[in-house]
Amino acid sequence: MTEKYDAIIIGSGFGGSMTAYKLVNAGKKVLMLERGDWVKRGPENWEASQTLELTPQYDKNSPLRVDSGGNKPFMGQYSCVGGPSVYYGGVSFRFREKDFDPPADIIGNSGAEWPISYNDLEVYYDEAEKLLNISGESGVDPTEPHRNSEFPQKKGELAAVSKKVKASAEKLGLKPFHLPLAINYHDSSRSVCQECTTCDTFACAVHAKNDLATLIIPDLISKGMELRPNTIVVELLHSNNRITSIKCFDKEKEESCEFTADKIILSAGAIGSPSLLLANNLDKINSGGQVIGRHLMRHLNAIIFGIYPGKADKEQRFHKQVAILDYYFGHPTLKTGLSKIGSLQQIPTPNPAIVENEVPGVFGKILGKAVTLLTGLLAIAEDQPQFENRIELDRNVLDKFGLPQPVINHQYSPRDLEALKVLIKPAKKIIAGTGAITHYVHHIRTFSHAVGTVRMGIDPSQSALDRDCKFRGIENLWVIDGSFMPTSSAVNPSLTIAANALRVGEIISK
Ligand SMILES: Cc1cc2nc3c(=O)[nH]c(=O)nc-3n(C[C@H](O)[C@H](O)[C@H](O)COP(=O)(O)OP(=O)(O)OC[C@H]3O[C@@H](n4cnc5c(N)ncnc54)[C@H](O)[C@@H]3O)c2cc1C
Ligand code: SF4
Repeated sequence: MTEKYDAIIIGSGFGGSMTAYKLVNAGKKVLMLERGDWVKRGPENWEASQTLELTPQYDKNSPLRVDSGGNKPFMGQYSCVGGPSVYYGGVSFRFREKDFDPPADIIGNSGAEWPISYNDLEVYYDEAEKLLNISGESGVDPTEPHRNSEFPQKKGELAAVSKKVKASAEKLGLKPFHLPLAINYHDSSRSVCQECTTCDTFACAVHAKNDLATLIIPDLISKGMELRPNTIVVELLHSNNRITSIKCFDKEKEESCEFTADKIILSAGAIGSPSLLLANNLDKINSGGQVIGRHLMRHLNAIIFGIYPGKADKEQRFHKQVAILDYYFGHPTLKTGLSKIGSLQQIPTPNPAIVENEVPGVFGKILGKAVTLLTGLLAIAEDQPQFENRIELDRNVLDKFGLPQPVINHQYSPRDLEALKVLIKPAKKIIAGTGAITHYVHHIRTFSHAVGTVRMGIDPSQSALDRDCKFRGIENLWVIDGSFMPTSSAVNPSLTIAANALRVGEIISK
């Protein structure tokens, strides 16, 4: 046992880092425990071996079993300082106002309800955008929520491919606009973006991606936060409705260690957090314990790739740049009774290594060689929170640290599938208008947008967290990461996880 901290934060992703930001700046003594290591930066980050499952940061030491809904029976997870933000696409959307009051056809019989509104998060969205120096343009997104301030950074220049996508969408009467991105284009006091073709799923070789390990965590360390990388939390010891200490395994020293603090913040992500809670039987103490690990959402995503007669991206330049949100809440040209559909955003020409990894078999090999002919749009449809979609534990299978194996089961509802089907149609039209000779639709079955598994709510029997992410039944435990969301919306989750963490971090730091 070492010294006592004001707060221990488990996990250094969006939830953990943004909570730490508030606590450290309020003068609290904070220990952050992270199972992964720092990701080294340099020219090697541009290599094909530095993406997805191929990187050493894709941790397979604690494999997740995926019994239904995955593309593989076993999965690892990104595990590093900054969490998957280091590898993410940087797309930084705010949820829309109406996302906090979802319609009945999304909620179904899940009992999901948001105890907070957009207005409760608005100032924290501002703050998160400033901290992550998001570049973007306001006033053009047709479903944009109201905002108090402009984007902190101006948009970047569109690549030739992006201009074609924008023109094609405009020809269809749509209002395409710049994706809000966590990329440094204009701050010359640090490296600016080189517009390389390895951004999403790669770490930035030159520190121009505004990920947490680049922009947030080093500053917190300089202000006194203690970070212990390569430290995996294995037990949350508790008695008398308090977490009394945190038991860990130090992977470098190969020994156990234990820490204690007044406040414990669990930010291990929407798969890691419920797994730790269930492994420690904390669901038995919580009035909403039956929902822990349940209502797993991950969006329903597909890529509509255009196939072009020659190189799709002749400039060889970053082009994940354009968003189309005209279909978010339906559209006069879409014949559907659904009140919410989803979003479209550009996806760049893939790296051959990604395609070979994602599309198994011979087709993947052929496609891997032909990827220079592709570029496309990512369709993100909102998925419903369903009780049966879950993470549970197989206590008969333990990893090398003694943690029981998480088992995932996930099936999309007919409503989810309908929303994606509807969204793919205009995506094909936009792609056709860019000169593609045909298209290929690739369905994504990863859990990179996992949310919802330790949800907040108003009814204590239907939610494990109260409106301030306090874990019901334990007086010094908060869960602050993507787990908290009652519904998933149809835009990327990280900025909302960050804004909520800033909101709750401020409350906890008082
Ligand atoms: C390739 C990729 C691209 C993405 N692109 C985007 C994008 O463009 N825009 C967007 O909004 N979202 C994107 N996402 C999703 C986004 O990264 C996640 O939604 C977000 O990181 C989740 O934040 P979190 O706080 O819930 O947890 P995470 O960021 O996942 O952080 C959890 C942390 O806890 C650590 N941890 C887990 N278990 C333990 C343990 N037992 N002990 C110690 N530490 C532990 C993990 O190593 C990790 O660092 C992307 C994800 C991936 C994988
Ligand atoms: S596109 Fe820019 S931010 Fe992204 S990895 Fe390349 S240099 Fe870094």
